[in-house]
Amino acid sequence: MNREEEIKKRRTFAIISHPDAGKTTITEQLLKFGGAIREAGTVKARKTGNFAKSDWMDIEKERGISVTSSVMQFDYAGKRVNILDTPGHEDFSEDTYRTLMAVDAAVMVIDSAKGIEAQTKKLFQVVKHRGIPVFTFINKLDRDGREPLDLLSELEEVLGIESVPMNWPIGMGKNFQGLYDFTNDRVEVYQPADGERFVALSVLTKGEHPLASNPFYEQAVEDAELLADAGNPFDEARVIAGKLTPVFFGSALTSFGVQTFLESFLDYAPEPHSHQTVDGEAIEPLETDFSGFVFKIQANMDPRHRDRIAFVRIVSGEFERGMGVQLVRTGKQVKLANVTQFMADTRENVQNAVAGDIIGVYDTGTYQVGDTMTTGKLKKAFEPLPTFTPELFMRVQAKNVMKQKSFHKGIEQLVQEGAIQLYTNYTTGDIMLGAVGQLQFEVFKDRMEREYHSDIVMTPMGKKSVRWINPEQLDEKMSSSRNILARDRFDHPLFLFENDFALRWFKDKYPEVVLKEEFSV
Ligand code: GDP
Repeated sequence: MNREEEIKKRRTFAIISHPDAGKTTITEQLLKFGGAIREAGTVKARKTGNFAKSDWMDIEKERGISVTSSVMQFDYAGKRVNILDTPGHEDFSEDTYRTLMAVDAAVMVIDSAKGIEAQTKKLFQVVKHRGIPVFTFINKLDRDGREPLDLLSELEEVLGIESVPMNWPIGMGKNFQGLYDFTNDRVEVYQPADGERFVALSVLTKGEHPLASNPFYEQAVEDAELLADAGNPFDEARVIAGKLTPVFFGSALTSFGVQTFLESFLDYAPEPHSHQTVDGEAIEPLETDFSGFVFKIQANMDPRHRDRIAFVRIVSGEFERGMGVQLVRTGKQVKLANVTQFMADTRENVQNAVAGDIIGVYDTGTYQVGDTMTTGKLKKAFEPLPTFTPELFMRVQAKNVMKQKSFHKGIEQLVQEGAIQLYTNYTTGDIMLGAVGQLQFEVFKDRMEREYHSDIVMTPMGKKSVRWINPEQLDEKMSSSRNILARDRFDHPLFLFENDFALRWFKDKYPEVVLKEEFSV
């Protein structure tokens, strides 16, 4: 197969969901259809791994495994599928967001009893901002959940995206009979008496099937008529533009509706997209020169070394082992010798990685999040990754005041690498760190000790809302313990508000001050 064909068959996506909605379960199902059994075990191992937050060895084990499950690849129906993991739970971090910058589509898994939950909402905002297609899987139909029509309106009201159901539940919970599959004009029967899982609508219309007279089926047919009249029509262009989400109902645990979902998803999910440089030039996947960008750096593969893995999304061309590339930020040549590819069967299996794929480059401190690499004439970097406004804050100090040098060096490098966000108190000069998830602080502390021999003391400051202000409006007198005046690492002034109440109070008191949620997506 030539390179162009290889690139065109790539489908690279991430699953976004709130913890417990069923992401792990559905991922395993998808991998099973792709024949990637080994990886399926890995996903579970990672999830059940006994993970004590404060213990580095555990974090490390956890992280060690998660490198292999960070990208899961398999072939299905002539497509090569890359699923990028978006860690949640205690693992939630800026990397979770950044991973969404490296995919061409997203699958949103929702628990039918719970609807849209907090983490789904946050992740969806990033996906929406990028304008990439989102496919929705409403899970756990084998249990009682909310009314399907209700769930569709929630998508519209809470997320602001229109939806088009691709199938429709016939009952749910203990009355779950199956799915009315609009695309394939058939019914997928949940527990078929005669063993026949798929029944053509024509058979049901003629009344030749026991389900034909089932009240839940009749209700589904009624709902379907209503949807056909009043619902959104399926429109592929709007799906691709991220304006309309196709909705699939199912039950991941019983592997019901998952394969139909996968097939439909692969029919519509886009092939690798182009990527813009800071100059606005679009680099197309089919260009001959290799190019890519680092979207995540995962530290500590081996505690004795400062090594890490830089995850690179290939934007154009083809990766070859040992190839020399230029790092656009520094202008230096680097050799891509020690590279992990993520294959379905074994991790070492060398096949071609092309545009759309992800490679893991062994790194001893060369790369930063957002770095561009290329073999070609590309002189400009790709557009920078957005910064995701942190919500959790810690005050941080060196335990030993005599060791300021290693303390500052460590902070500077880890902040540059993208591991954590740095803020400085405008008045006192105190150093504060911001993160989107608790794990970022723990990894930071451990890396400071191990890599920079700097013991630190961290004092939790709790949640804060960040608002940037115009430098001209800066007035130190406006600062208080409820709205701390600080600067970010680029010296932009901002306030850290204790809560919404403090924010409103400030707005009342200083109506002329413009507060911006800048640098957020
Ligand atoms: P994750 O946190 O999103 O990865 O969620 P998991 O895949 O680990 O699922 C969370 C829990 O929900 C587990 O106990 C699963 O067995 C259960 N679960 C997942 N899918 C379904 C489903 O379709 N039906 C039911 N009843 N339970 C499910």
